[in-house]
Amino acid sequence: MNVVQLLVRAARTHGARPALYHGASRLLDYRGLAARAAAVAGGLRRRGLGPGDRVALFMANCPEYLEAMYGAWWAGLAVVPINAKLHPREALFILEHARAGALFTSPDLATSLLPLLDEAPAIRHVFETGTAGYRDLLGAGPVPPARRRPEDLAWLFYTSGTTGRPKGVMQTNRMLLAMTACYFSDVDPVDAADAAVYAAPMSHGAGLYSLPHMAAAARHVVPESGGFDPAELAGLASSVGRLSMFAAPTMVKRLVAHVEAADADPSGFKTLVYGGGPMYVEDIRRGLAVMGDRFVQIYGQGESPMTITALPRQQLADRGHPRWLERLASVGYAQSQVEMRVADEHGEPLPDGEIGEVQVRGDVVMAGYWRDPQASARALRGGWLWTGDVGALDAEGFLTLKDRSKDVIISGGSNIYPREIEEVLLAHPGVAEVAVVGAPDPEWGEEVVAFVVPRDGERPDPAALDGLCLDRIARFKRPKRYRFVDALPKNHYGKVLKTELKAALAGGRNEPAPPKETT
Ligand code: AMP
Repeated sequence: MNVVQLLVRAARTHGARPALYHGASRLLDYRGLAARAAAVAGGLRRRGLGPGDRVALFMANCPEYLEAMYGAWWAGLAVVPINAKLHPREALFILEHARAGALFTSPDLATSLLPLLDEAPAIRHVFETGTAGYRDLLGAGPVPPARRRPEDLAWLFYTSGTTGRPKGVMQTNRMLLAMTACYFSDVDPVDAADAAVYAAPMSHGAGLYSLPHMAAAARHVVPESGGFDPAELAGLASSVGRLSMFAAPTMVKRLVAHVEAADADPSGFKTLVYGGGPMYVEDIRRGLAVMGDRFVQIYGQGESPMTITALPRQQLADRGHPRWLERLASVGYAQSQVEMRVADEHGEPLPDGEIGEVQVRGDVVMAGYWRDPQASARALRGGWLWTGDVGALDAEGFLTLKDRSKDVIISGGSNIYPREIEEVLLAHPGVAEVAVVGAPDPEWGEEVVAFVVPRDGERPDPAALDGLCLDRIARFKRPKRYRFVDALPKNHYGKVLKTELKAALAGGRNEPAPPKETT
């Protein structure tokens, strides 16, 4: 089955229901949205693109996002959504790696990306929103929806590995439909009057959650700002109402602070689904106090999209439960189509309470990494997905994540991979060695800190290091702080001990002495 059937069915049965809003303005009903997706599909097919091909989406959140995505599925293609915050060179890497045959983009991003496209020869067509070319695409006339098999690729989801190179998670129709079913049973039932608001990037979790809202023929709202603006969201809560949104913990925190400071009415928010990074207990308690019982937590990863565990509204609200605080600190229990366990390094399941790697099995688990059999074999072993996350289960099946086995830094809900930044900094002639780690930060979850060993004892100028990062990687990844040290702590194999660097930054008790800083 092709995931686009969710839209086809909604349009046939509920054609007159409102489908798409830009801010508070209603743009299309379901019949209209399906007609535009069918027209996009017609345009793509007439340009020679068809089942088996991939179409990249490098756009900030905009109303065209859904017609491009569902239009590509309608034509039988797979989508490759790319985070609009990435540096154009990073986007180019993904375009090239995915061998995308076409690209949807928006004018703000096109200016810097299009001059680089010679380096992505597979791209044969570029559709820039708001241009005559884009209107032409839709002018070709509709085609019937393509048939796809459950195991066919629907979404190539680029995440990054600790090697610093993004990996393309192959998400199939079956996976996305299993995720959709789990949304209804484990996260939140959806009513047609509900409205999914896209405040987080549609290239990731927010876009994935368009599927259950399509299945329920609910409303889709793209904020006019194209992103996350607490005041705008509070306005949409009162004008559009019944908002459901996926948000990283940082966004939740900012929204709660706004609602509290403005003494705004939270009743226009139906459900705030948070996940993608750790949520501190104090923050969710404050959220519950200010906004009421409107929260659900999910834990997932690209390799098992949005769907490993959930901590439902009822458990978050159950203040009288003797272990309420432990539950708030957990990520909840396995979603209904997921088998989950905690195992040791040999893949042997561990007893409750013991810490090990989280493993997942079920229809929601990825088919593998695109063009990367080695990484696929590492992640999928013995029939299980090895998540790289470390945690422990309690006797009732609640999972508490302890740490990530990889050294991923999660800042504001975005994953940042240290190796990528280290490679950029090492390009500076004054840098002999470097190690990038995350330091706890009350607002962003973590902030990026670089420990730098200067070459020949002379400190490079932090502004020059910053400039180097700005040239090569997305802004949000660059270090917020530089610490200059004589040497990095290393083990017997010469591997840098990042745990020691992190402990030094966290300033906890029993921590090892920080590496000696140069003056
Ligand atoms: P991504 O593949 O970009 O979605 O990142 C997934 C990673 O984010 C997971 O492997 C976890 O390490 C982390 N993560 C996701 N959800 C949660 C959560 N609810 N609490 C803590 N960490 C999370």
